[in-house]
Amino acid sequence: MENKINSDLMVCKACGYKIKPKKLKTLCPACGVGKKYFEPFNDNISPLRRKILELHLHPIVVHFSVAISVFLFLAVLISFFTSGKVTNTLYGTSAVMSVTLPFFVAAGLVSGIIDGITRFKKIKRPMILNKIYLSIFFLLISVAVLALVQVFKFDIFYINILLLILCFVSAVCGSLLGKLGGRLTDAILPGK
Ligand SMILES: [Zn+2]
Repeated sequence: MENKINSDLMVCKACGYKIKPKKLKTLCPACGVGKKYFEPFNDNISPLRRKILELHLHPIVVHFSVAISVFLFLAVLISFFTSGKVTNTLYGTSAVMSVTLPFFVAAGLVSGIIDGITRFKKIKRPMILNKIYLSIFFLLISVAVLALVQVFKFDIFYINILLLILCFVSAVCGSLLGKLGGRLTDAILPGK
């Protein structure tokens, strides 16, 4: 057994919310029970790993790629029913958004690898590997979306149908990754 490493945090016995003693007022900010329900948190991971996870870098970064995928899907869909200036505006916005998509997907992949290594000490863990493969697929789709938007400028009906499908698939990829990641939020290997 590894020794437990004490932290400078308090934990709510009712809901498990962790907080610095300085910041704890009369109630648990998460579930609302009184201060007396808090006890010192005996952390079983190192302060450094706790600090990295507390940044919540990966959960924050991943929202951008899902939001952009959904936006692009809606923009292509709406463009079927518009013409002239409105279509041009939709296209212009989509052209910019589609450039940012692969970057945000890549940022999600990199931050996810950092998060995974922080939690599980190495990358070769079953769910982490599955998430990485799915992210690489997501990245390829986002590059395909970028290429189709830039080259065809919403001009060709069949390409727009293809774009619609790809944007839908990329939004599903992002959501699936989020769902898998959600199950890992409390999964951390103990130790340094
Ligand atoms: Zn609580």
